[in-house]
Amino acid sequence: MISLEIPDPFQTFVSKKYADAKGSVYDFFAKEWSWHCPCGEDIYAPSRKTLTNTRLFHTRNVCLGGY
Ligand SMILES: [Zn+2]
Repeated sequence: MISLEIPDPFQTFVSKKYADAKGSVYDFFAKEWSWHCPCGEDIYAPSRKTLTNTRLFHTRNVCLGGY
């Protein structure tokens, strides 16, 4: 179990690179992407691509109530 060690510089770089990518945040420890929706929900996904899809689904079907 060495997964809880301090993030290496490359991961930190990647995180900063994508820090402003529409508010997506990468959690080193959970190895997940997360995004906090203005409606108050937190969205989690194992990859950035999945997060984008999940986020679009959420905003269309949950935030907007399907309108
Ligand atoms: Zn929402």
